[in-house]
Amino acid sequence: MKNYITPNLQFFDLVPIKAQGSSVWDEAGREYIDLFGGIAVNALGHCHPALIRALEDQAHKLWHISNLYLTLPTKELAKKLVQHSFAEQVFFANSGAEANEAALKLARKYAFEQYGPSKDKIVSCCNSFHGRTLFTVSVSGQKKYQLGFGPLPPGIQHIALNDTEALEKHLDDQTCAFICEPIQGESGVIPAESNFLKLARRLCDLHKIVFILDEVQTGMGRTGKLFAYQHYGITPDIMTLAKALGCGVPIGAMLTLEKFAKAFAPGSHGTTLGGNPLGCAVANVAFDLINSAKTLQHVQQQGLLFRQKLNQLMSETGKFQSIRGEGLLLGCVLQDRYQGKARELVQAALAAGVLISQAGPDVIRLAPSLIIQAEEREKGLARFEQALKQWNP
Ligand SMILES: *Cc1c(COP(=O)(O)O)cnc(C)c1O
Repeated sequence: MKNYITPNLQFFDLVPIKAQGSSVWDEAGREYIDLFGGIAVNALGHCHPALIRALEDQAHKLWHISNLYLTLPTKELAKKLVQHSFAEQVFFANSGAEANEAALKLARKYAFEQYGPSKDKIVSCCNSFHGRTLFTVSVSGQKKYQLGFGPLPPGIQHIALNDTEALEKHLDDQTCAFICEPIQGESGVIPAESNFLKLARRLCDLHKIVFILDEVQTGMGRTGKLFAYQHYGITPDIMTLAKALGCGVPIGAMLTLEKFAKAFAPGSHGTTLGGNPLGCAVANVAFDLINSAKTLQHVQQQGLLFRQKLNQLMSETGKFQSIRGEGLLLGCVLQDRYQGKARELVQAALAAGVLISQAGPDVIRLAPSLIIQAEEREKGLARFEQALKQWNP
């Protein structure tokens, strides 16, 4: 069969045609339980009625008008994000990579204007993931995503996550930005330690470095708090969001304080579609549904129940060596003898009727709907159990 899509995208052998809640159906009418949430995007499951209504209502009013005009849904979403975070101002983009691109450009611009051209170093973590534009892929600490795309932009250094000595050594007066994920998502659901983030905050203050937290995957309730930084008693200078912000409509955001935002003078950065009213209308309703005590408690409670079952599967099968993560972002680390085989297990789970994802070659990632129901959880995990027990690579 002819491939109409470029081969960088590798598709599983399943054609989803409709979905509802945490269920997905293929062309033959077979049902699958979704425990990966479209890679932590579908925070309110599939086809949530309130989101459909928001999309339909806005579709009759205004889809796009460009950033020459500020529309009501865009203004409302920015206000909500500011009122419920450390931030004072928001820049909207279409994706996580673009939100990070804006964050990194802003940090460089701010340092340039405040301190001159030599404060341009960016420090990031090994194995981090910040997107696929050339700048964000260069800042991401994964060589395999950079190979062959050079020359890469200079002035970027990588340190090991949770290495406080490296932090002390690399964050200096020439550094303009430090960027970090509260939990490294794509590389295997690896949490940053509280003392590492707190030290980063102190060193950023000391050396006048912009502290960027990439919450593209951890933000919007995923960890049981609205934003993951709220677990640590620190605030960043810039935070980026995308994935669950639109629950499936493409939208990203960079949130910051006015004193940094000022460096983005009129015209110095921009976007055509970023913050368009269609996406923002959906994100507004999604925000209210996620930012409720009920939903956030549900995430914490379901997170514990998932963890319980996964721990049980770990001791029964011996196929995992640890379960890690926070809230409903969970990683099952494969035992050494199954290293490199995460994709095979994802394939086996698919055959058993449950959708999961891998985070790197050795880790299974679960990121189900934040409002997953008990029956959906049980059914999905039962299928996962069956696949895991039969799996004999
Ligand atoms: C997914 C992800 C990105 C990239 O987002 P895109 O929307 O794919 O550009 C950036 N950072 C983190 C932490 C992510 O998980």
